[in-house]
Amino acid sequence: MVRKEGQNYRNLRFKIHPTPEQEEKLDETLEYCRSIWNHLLSLQVDLYERSGLSVKRSDLEKYLKNLDYPIHSSVRLDIFQRLCFAYDKFFDDLKKGRLKNTKPKKGMLVKKRDVPCGNNSSGLIKYDGILPKGHPKFKNKEDFSSFRYKQHGNGWKLEEDKLYLSKITGKSNPIKIDVDILPDGELETCTLKKEGKQWFAYLTVELSENPTPETPENAVGIDLGLKSFITTSDDDFVNPPRFLRKAEKRLAKEQRKLSRMKFRSNNYNKQKQKVNRIHRKVVAARNHFSHCLSKLLVERYDLIVFEDLKIKNLVKNNRLAKSISDVGWNKLVQYVTYKAAKRSKIVDKVNPNYTSQVCSHCRRKKKEKLKLDERTFHCNNCGLEIDRDFNASINILTKSSYYNPTMHTVGLAGINGCGDGTSTTGFDISSQVPSMNQQLLNLVKG
Ligand SMILES: [Zn+2]
Repeated sequence: MVRKEGQNYRNLRFKIHPTPEQEEKLDETLEYCRSIWNHLLSLQVDLYERSGLSVKRSDLEKYLKNLDYPIHSSVRLDIFQRLCFAYDKFFDDLKKGRLKNTKPKKGMLVKKRDVPCGNNSSGLIKYDGILPKGHPKFKNKEDFSSFRYKQHGNGWKLEEDKLYLSKITGKSNPIKIDVDILPDGELETCTLKKEGKQWFAYLTVELSENPTPETPENAVGIDLGLKSFITTSDDDFVNPPRFLRKAEKRLAKEQRKLSRMKFRSNNYNKQKQKVNRIHRKVVAARNHFSHCLSKLLVERYDLIVFEDLKIKNLVKNNRLAKSISDVGWNKLVQYVTYKAAKRSKIVDKVNPNYTSQVCSHCRRKKKEKLKLDERTFHCNNCGLEIDRDFNASINILTKSSYYNPTMHTVGLAGINGCGDGTSTTGFDISSQVPSMNQQLLNLVKG
């Protein structure tokens, strides 16, 4: 039931500001939902324990309709679908052998289809009153943090910065929500989630067809890197702010600590809460950073060319620093894409192969890859000597099928000799635009 974010859907997270009474209602609803989950699950499990039979899903759905809880019907239905989804996943995992330790050692052997809510696939697993690994679990308070309205206009409604939720807000007292920018499209689901002591709304938007982009005048290629977060074909670069790097490092450290603790012990639970807290901070800081940087890029350029991350990830080696950057890069590309679409600008993704091996001036390809610590690209053919990421960013730009040489691009003007012509490697842009790092820092702080 969880919709994966894809081409046509976008999930957006916004902070909401309920009054104390509304917060009480939100908490109450969450508790009702949790009790529905446990209730439905116990029906399955009990019946199975007594008779070896399982409840039909259609019967369960009928039963659910008669439950008397003061929550909206679509929220109730969503819990049922989440449970079905959890069972589907369980059986799918079993079938594909993704659940280790489910092979029976001692105890009763039963057929898979006899496990509560089972289907008719064959095979044996252990079931002796203790739910097998991977089976949907009874939820305690810590495990249950969200509920969902499934359709905009049916139980929930967004009007500017006002969020209306059936059975929680009245018509005259909506919850204030921090909506900054919404992509064009139809609102779909609204998930209310409690993170720590705060509440957030996750909204899904089905994107409308993008308007036809205008002919781009300013173009930029962007290299996503480890040394600099991005390097542009304008010979500019951006590093993530220091506080974000620090928070990410701290998160990694606390996560390592957690992984060494005994699962569900007191210390584990405490550490888990700590990790969650830092994690939320990192996510918020990273989102803020990506918003600012994407805004800057979309304001500056009509055509923005990235490396295709799916391919890039196959090429690069696997390191912690990279996995952290990956998350940031994905966010950035995602934000730039939808902000650009709103303003009729173009975002293109190109295959990153050889972008760091080809000379951006004479197009000659080096036989060998540059080593990780080699920061300068030196061309034996034409003598070009420039920063390797800068060289790559130019190649990324020129790989795009949208690119044509009449577009205004600072870095390329210098290289192609159309600029002031003083030297082949003189890319003096300092007088033309303020550096992106500086501009970004002001934005992030502001
Ligand atoms: Zn060259």
